[in-house]
Amino acid sequence: MGQSHPPFAFSPAHRVEAALITDAAAPFCAVIGAGPAGLFAAEALARAGARVVVYEHKPSPARKFLMAGRGGLNITHTENLERFISRYGAAAKRIGPFVRAFPPQALRDFCAELGEATFVGTSGRVFPASFKASPLLRGWLARLARLGVTIASRHAFLGFAPDGALRLKGPEGEEFARPAGAVVLALGGASWPKLGSEGGWTLALNEAGVAVTPLSPANSGALVEWSSIFRADFEGQPIKTVLLRHGDATARGDMVVTRAGLEGGPVYALSARLREASATDGAATLFVDMRPDTSLACLTRKLSRRAPKQSHATFLKRSGFSRAEIGLLREARPEGLPRDAEALASLIKNAPLKVAGVAGLERAISTAGGVSFEEVDAELMLKKMPGVFVAGEMLDFDAPTGGYLLQAAFATGLAAGRGAARYLGLLSPAQTGLSPSHMPNSRAPAASNKYSV
Ligand SMILES: Cc1cc2nc3c(=O)[nH]c(=O)nc-3n(C[C@H](O)[C@H](O)[C@H](O)COP(=O)(O)OP(=O)(O)OC[C@H]3O[C@@H](n4cnc5c(N)ncnc54)[C@H](O)[C@@H]3O)c2cc1C
Repeated sequence: MGQSHPPFAFSPAHRVEAALITDAAAPFCAVIGAGPAGLFAAEALARAGARVVVYEHKPSPARKFLMAGRGGLNITHTENLERFISRYGAAAKRIGPFVRAFPPQALRDFCAELGEATFVGTSGRVFPASFKASPLLRGWLARLARLGVTIASRHAFLGFAPDGALRLKGPEGEEFARPAGAVVLALGGASWPKLGSEGGWTLALNEAGVAVTPLSPANSGALVEWSSIFRADFEGQPIKTVLLRHGDATARGDMVVTRAGLEGGPVYALSARLREASATDGAATLFVDMRPDTSLACLTRKLSRRAPKQSHATFLKRSGFSRAEIGLLREARPEGLPRDAEALASLIKNAPLKVAGVAGLERAISTAGGVSFEEVDAELMLKKMPGVFVAGEMLDFDAPTGGYLLQAAFATGLAAGRGAARYLGLLSPAQTGLSPSHMPNSRAPAASNKYSV
């Protein structure tokens, strides 16, 4: 099957996919959601010999993945695997087996197979050489098409009919039911809803009695009321290598000034605490150390050599501070910067910023909460809905930024796809097991099967 339809069936009417489904003999699996988790599940299923349609309610696939590409696409991380897995916190035990079965190196090899070599950036984070998601996605969609995967865009998942069939809404608003041998749900969380993941699926699963931990924003930017001058001059500017502190929690990395406040890895890492503190006290104080590798004493000595009438701006610029850093110091101390070297050094190492709150789901990088791991078996099948599997950000896990989110989306997508293939009788239990090389590849195009996803 799959030879007679166009390779990128982004907007087939449901009649088209109905013909594909009913005409062929191979078992049919529906994947809902064309993000990384759903597409990877689809690939695993197609390689095992299933006929696969990916239903996606947006006009095109993987919009959040493409948006992640705008920030360089930090696809995974090279740190020690056990340390990597510990980043999933309370869910580490549940996510661990999936990441071990499809570890960071396998994801890097997957990228390389698709023509996108990866490189290791600062602090071990991994990026595609192009720093973008689009070349990778283009190659991947072409490969999926060769494997016979149909992407039915503008098809929204509405829930399940009483007989277990999928309820879908097609491109013209028509509602219809589609029975499937197995289903992989990969509808994402609820952050950045305009990119497609809206969290509406929680209703359908609640109705089916599946426990879903309420969805909440994670890895959010901090809201800071900048002065109009600072915002106009520095919106979009990076402030590199800072150490942020709130209470006893610290996080180090680069941050970016935005219209609403601050974004970036260290800000996201403290966002849960900032959210809690600002909700309790109305605001929270975030301390910024702009020279984390220089001691207070050393910085004081350096700042002591100053001509008597030299302005702050000239002096700090000559001392190696960027305009954005100087601006940030002024935001922290609007009454004026101190001339005393020790007081100035102390401000540089501990600049207090008033944080009014953190961004909500509409701008958060990821979603905490989701389908409880108690509800799924070791292959990610819902215990209360045999034949229905769950993958990606729908699951109840959270992780910091650094490539952990995408790695989990791929690893759980693969597990759910393989689980669904086994449910359909296409794989034996051993073949869904831990080693990627266990995966048979009945439909793989030659030379693209290194990891046999
Ligand atoms: C701005 C930004 C930057 C990011 N950068 C990174 C990064 O650098 N590294 C990293 O690891 N992670 C990053 N992430 C997070 C990462 O993109 C997500 O964790 C990942 O995309 C989750 O994959 P997923 O397949 O589970 O869900 P998604 O990518 O959200 O895909 C779910 C799909 O389901 C579709 N869908 C939803 N509801 C329905 C419905 N009812 N019917 C049909 N289809 C539906 C959606 O339209 C979507 O296409 C970033 C996120 C954002 C917002």
